[in-house]
Amino acid sequence: MSLPFPVNSVLDHIPVYQPGRPIEEVARELGLPAADIIKLASNENPLGPSPLAVAAMRQALAAAHLYPDGNAFHLKRKLAAKLGVEPANLVLGNGSNEILEFIGHAVLSPGAEAVVSQYCFAVYPLVTHLFGATLVTVPARDYGHDLPALLRAITPQTRAVFIANPNNPTGTRASREELRRFVDAVPPRVLLALDEAYLEFLADPPDFLPLIRGGQKPNLLLLRTFSKIYGLAGLRLGYGIAAPALIAALEKVRQPFNINAVAQAGALAALDDTEHVQKTRRNNADGLEFYAEAFRRMGLPFVPSAANFILVRVGDGQRVFCELQQRGVIVRPMGGYQLPEFVRISVGTPEENRRCLEGLKAALA
Ligand SMILES: *Cc1c(COP(=O)(O)O)cnc(C)c1O
Repeated sequence: MSLPFPVNSVLDHIPVYQPGRPIEEVARELGLPAADIIKLASNENPLGPSPLAVAAMRQALAAAHLYPDGNAFHLKRKLAAKLGVEPANLVLGNGSNEILEFIGHAVLSPGAEAVVSQYCFAVYPLVTHLFGATLVTVPARDYGHDLPALLRAITPQTRAVFIANPNNPTGTRASREELRRFVDAVPPRVLLALDEAYLEFLADPPDFLPLIRGGQKPNLLLLRTFSKIYGLAGLRLGYGIAAPALIAALEKVRQPFNINAVAQAGALAALDDTEHVQKTRRNNADGLEFYAEAFRRMGLPFVPSAANFILVRVGDGQRVFCELQQRGVIVRPMGGYQLPEFVRISVGTPEENRRCLEGLKAALA
């Protein structure tokens, strides 16, 4: 049924974001017990949240009648100390997804252009279209970002460039040198959103914090999240790191209490649990190796991954997704990313990885 009033015309071109399917939903649909289903579809931490974070969150519940600290004093201070920046260099978002929307509010409007890569994270086009701006998509190179081509796509109308390193859904990464040259070459009048959601999985991460500390890059916004290596996707908490003037602009866009009190407590404690982060990194490296080896044996083409998931070419991705789901394994079909022959598998525990691989073999038999 059509609405009896018009909605903003930009909505005509915006699909509803399709997340990885929740375990409970698949359980209801297939009549399977939820406990028998595993989800390797949203790049979550298979080891769960840090136990320290869980304990801190329990404690925070007792004060749930109070509004959270709208400025998240303690969390910002601790993050700033860890990163070697000032609290004024930080903005917090309800997931780093929300910070992507702040960018839209701050710099995108009809007539403005946003530059992205083919196979970029789906939220960049969504945000661009939401604000009526024009999306400029640059063809990928070997599934990764073609940085020189992205630079050439910048015009006088360009207001933002969105880059993820490593990239989701491909798992590709740019070399440190190439990325550094790119960051230096983006004109200061263009906001560069460098999405580092998977940075902590890199053994040799590029470090752009010195550029922020030194105030050299007023247009650079680094995006990070507690959803991936910290295992706190359910809390919805991400952060942006940038020069104080850019942060001040984004702060005007932010809802007063966008980070709830439980999330603040959980994240604060999670930052202390370096052991959990290390364990996660090790499990992930082992899991990536496991899948790469198995895919090589099976003759399945895959994109070498620097993140906590792997993109593998299985023929009919939607069919394989459905067959795996029947076996209680949720992965991510890639049709929405124009990669219909692929599925994306998040690294799980060793047991989850084995189960996924067995399901994949059966689906392809
Ligand atoms: C998962 C992911 C994020 C993080 O999203 P949150 O909103 O923080 O959960 C951001 N960017 C990319 C590319 C991602 O894959």
